[in-house]
Amino acid sequence: MESSIELIRNHILMKGVPEHELEAAVSAMDYMLLSDHDKLITEGEIGDCCYFIVGGKALVSSSNLTARQIALDVLLPGAIVGEIALIMQDKRTADVTAIGQLEVLRLKSVDFYRLAKASPMFHESLLFSSRIRLLHGLLRKTTIWSTIPDAELRGLAEITRISKVKRGDTILTEGELSTQLYMISQGRFQIKRNDRKVDTLASGDCFGEIDLLLDGPYSGTITALEDSELLIIGKEEFHFILQQFEQVHRQFIELACIRHPELIKVLKPKLNSLPHTASSSIPNNKHQHMDRSSAENEQRDKQQGYKKSDHWISIVLSLGGLFILTTICAIWLRHPAWIGAALFIGGLAGPVSFVSFIRGTQLLGYRVSRLALVFIISAITAAPSAFILERLFIFGGWQGSVSKLGSIAEPITVSLIEESLKLLVCILWLRGRKQRFLMDAIVFGAAIGMGFAAVESILYGWTYLQQGTAADMLAVLWVRALLSPFGHGTWTAIAAAGLWYGLHNKNLERSKVNSLIMIGLMVISISLHALWDNEYTGRLLGMIIIGLVGLVLLYLLLKKGMRDEVHALKVMNPIIEEPSAKYAQYRSLSLQADDTASLLCDGCGTVTPASASYCARCGQALRVTR
Ligand SMILES: [Zn+2]
Repeated sequence: MESSIELIRNHILMKGVPEHELEAAVSAMDYMLLSDHDKLITEGEIGDCCYFIVGGKALVSSSNLTARQIALDVLLPGAIVGEIALIMQDKRTADVTAIGQLEVLRLKSVDFYRLAKASPMFHESLLFSSRIRLLHGLLRKTTIWSTIPDAELRGLAEITRISKVKRGDTILTEGELSTQLYMISQGRFQIKRNDRKVDTLASGDCFGEIDLLLDGPYSGTITALEDSELLIIGKEEFHFILQQFEQVHRQFIELACIRHPELIKVLKPKLNSLPHTASSSIPNNKHQHMDRSSAENEQRDKQQGYKKSDHWISIVLSLGGLFILTTICAIWLRHPAWIGAALFIGGLAGPVSFVSFIRGTQLLGYRVSRLALVFIISAITAAPSAFILERLFIFGGWQGSVSKLGSIAEPITVSLIEESLKLLVCILWLRGRKQRFLMDAIVFGAAIGMGFAAVESILYGWTYLQQGTAADMLAVLWVRALLSPFGHGTWTAIAAAGLWYGLHNKNLERSKVNSLIMIGLMVISISLHALWDNEYTGRLLGMIIIGLVGLVLLYLLLKKGMRDEVHALKVMNPIIEEPSAKYAQYRSLSLQADDTASLLCDGCGTVTPASASYCARCGQALRVTR
């Protein structure tokens, strides 16, 4: 008892609380002894008491919006935990687990209210602590503050206000300047600009930040879609936090850039003016390359959950296996059904494998179903249109079989027709600001090119089947499948990358250079295609050189695309860079969630690495629906 009073007396909150009040308080508590790994508090349960740690250690951990367990704190003797339960009957916001043997004193909320008379100062102190703790817990959940050390977060909690709002309440009106930062701790809000719905925000998201950053009314009209709860920070406090925590500052600027791409030219200079301190967890690319070899970087990125998908290997193997199987059956059984199956699978095998490989290098892509849709759209629109146009312009009609053009004009015309048609599909797909990343253009471009190639292969195979034997058809399909990485997918990915530079020119620096890049990539794409068609008559060396030039260029574009994605992911999720090393030794106690799985952003449909808390494409908080 004496030692317990001693511990409680030393607690910062209990300064000035008279001795007899402390004694009365301690006598109202029950003593409990827990063993290693025992749970003192379970997240989500309704609490009715708080605990004073008097011996041993305890780990506080919580799952955030993405259901990842994060270690928040290690409690030592003298600490108070669970006091929110004293002011409100609410769910526990964290797990508390014993590390080794743990001794605690339990104070039930009924006893706490009785103490209001016997120990008024003790009562007041604990009430104050509960309020701060409540806000602290809520701020931890809105993960934008996750890089701020615990002690400072407590300070932030002291200047944060909780506000309950009713469904239908308008928090901000378009044209009105926000003077506060609003964070959503619970509920859903709608953003409207120019009377158009732009976004829905939910717990973990914030608004008003851009008004504070740029001193202008940018937020739009914000209305509560349900009864909700907001955490509010004033303008001066907001700017103070940004000054103190560079990472948080970068995160808010990135968010503003995502929400208002038209303001990038104003916002980027702000970003560049931020100091690059040694402890900065967002190193610029030059630094990164000087400091660490790329192998080390890759290793680190993998550990942090930037795991590239290797799903494509199984797709290549299974499609290849199926093609071999149908080829054997077609030769052996000579049944039209097997020949048809071999034709279909042979046409798809190369293109689908190539697209899934390119998709595997993407970190922030959309769902695969969207890619399949693009592939099919290109197959049923661009490919038949090209067939018709080529009949008309090159062969002079449906029946013609001999080209009217010379050996130089023909491949150029073919290339121009086919590349323009595929590029048209790309334009339909890539305009709109949701295709934020260069990788989007490369991946969708590859799918559009390969949808085209699949139909072309099947048509070629069909022609050979009509004019020759099934063996001729199979031979041509195998050659085309094996050569497919050199063809349409690569050319269209390169052209689409060029298109992306053109479409996003106003959001990028150096607009003249970008226009040149756009024209250059498109010209290269068309030239590679024309040269390839020209050499197709049998000059193997020429084909290999042309194919390799295309692949090397594609590789360079992929590298650039991946760098952009990793950068965006890191800026929006600085916590990925700094796993809470302080609590690393307790990981086995707290980590259960699968770190390698992916999350789906419900704002934009991006598949995001599970280690992230914010979507790098649309800036919304990632949440798992429980
Ligand atoms: Zn998103």
